[in-house]
Amino acid sequence: MVGVSTALALQERGVSAALIDRGDPAAQSSSGNAGIIQAEAAEPYAMPRSLGQLAAIASGRSNAVAWQATALPAMLRPLWGYFRNSAPSRHRRIAQTYVKLTSRATADHAPWIADAGSEHLIKRKGFVHAFRDERELGVAASRAERLARDYGVRFSALDGRALCESEPGLKQRMAGAIHWIDAWTCTDPGALVASYVSLFRSRGGQVLHGNAMTLARDADFWHVQENSGDRVTSKQAVIAMGMRSAELCKRFGLKVPLFPKRGYHLHLPAENGPRIPFVDVASSAVFAPMAGGLRVLTGAEIARDGSKTRPVQLERARRAAKELFEVGEPVEHEPWVGVRPCMPDMLPMIGEIPGQKGLWANFGHGHQGFTLGPTTASLLAGAMIDGIAVEQPLLPIRLLIRAGSP
Ligand SMILES: Cc1cc2nc3c(=O)[nH]c(=O)nc-3n(C[C@H](O)[C@H](O)[C@H](O)COP(=O)(O)OP(=O)(O)OC[C@H]3O[C@@H](n4cnc5c(N)ncnc54)[C@H](O)[C@@H]3O)c2cc1C
Repeated sequence: MVGVSTALALQERGVSAALIDRGDPAAQSSSGNAGIIQAEAAEPYAMPRSLGQLAAIASGRSNAVAWQATALPAMLRPLWGYFRNSAPSRHRRIAQTYVKLTSRATADHAPWIADAGSEHLIKRKGFVHAFRDERELGVAASRAERLARDYGVRFSALDGRALCESEPGLKQRMAGAIHWIDAWTCTDPGALVASYVSLFRSRGGQVLHGNAMTLARDADFWHVQENSGDRVTSKQAVIAMGMRSAELCKRFGLKVPLFPKRGYHLHLPAENGPRIPFVDVASSAVFAPMAGGLRVLTGAEIARDGSKTRPVQLERARRAAKELFEVGEPVEHEPWVGVRPCMPDMLPMIGEIPGQKGLWANFGHGHQGFTLGPTTASLLAGAMIDGIAVEQPLLPIRLLIRAGSP
């Protein structure tokens, strides 16, 4: 999502751009997510900080966050940064920037959805966070009121009966739900990204295959080797490779504390499943109605990108889906696994890489890359082409220009 959005935003500013991917540019994390364009996400996901939550994670009781011990040594530093930035005062400051991005996300997607002919993939009915426990629902309702007051996020609070009425497929009465009204949802995220790629191509953009790790500089020019053996040459290049971006930045002297939060999904047949994406807060699972069936998705797994999968959270999520809706057996033999490329300060990296004229970054969108692709692309293109200044860094950890100007 981030790569093709960058290509489209540059193209719209009159730049002749090429999108280079080592495979299908619509097939990675941007295809397997929950498909929610999260206009309501005024605040990025903070790390749990209470002792109770941390103990539940450490002991494996939490289904929101799982971890693999082999991942910890390499991730201790970024996780420590994430923990510190999740302190309420810092998190509030970060949210001041974040909300400027998420609040315009649907407006930034809208023209491309229309021009790509992808209206059929989009629903504008929001999604719900559903609660089994009255007390937790009360806490969530207070938080929603605060978000409405501070950031203008719109929601409606549903009691158990109202939730059953809006989701007649629910097998059991729950305490209630928060319905986030402003979010849009997509019934096939991979198809939406693919339609953006087609739009870019139809406007004269080139989609090429090659390994971006071949990026090299020659005087004022950047080169990448295509699989065909040809070289693509340009005065400016953007690194938008999701989780793999840090590896390439390192080659150019920038150590980025990017860390992965993995997530899984599988599809279950469900004739009478939820009508809109449904977050079962108790199991930290999302049940999203998609073209391929009911997509059951998990929370975060702290594991090395590419390491052996351990779909324990997914099994719990599947059991939760079975408790709440009439569902069949998984469509796939193997679960899909993808990654949320996360930064310790929860903000994407957008800007020119220090000391590398013409080399730019656009990655690290964490939990909301599907939402934010067009928005950060537009900010980056503004900085690259029009030299529009962007906000000053909030935190010392960040080296690059920061997003967030209106
Ligand atoms: C379970 C789950 C649910 C999620 N739900 C949502 C949601 O509802 N809403 C939301 O906004 N976000 C969601 N996310 C997060 C979102 O999916 C990511 O933030 C987003 O996909 C990141 O996009 P990206 O373009 O940076 O990375 P990717 O989609 O991973 O794309 C990276 C691209 O770089 C290419 N690449 C990598 N290495 C090279 C190389 N060497 N040479 C050339 N090309 C290369 C890859 O082929 C790929 O096409 C979810 C994530 C997960 C895991």
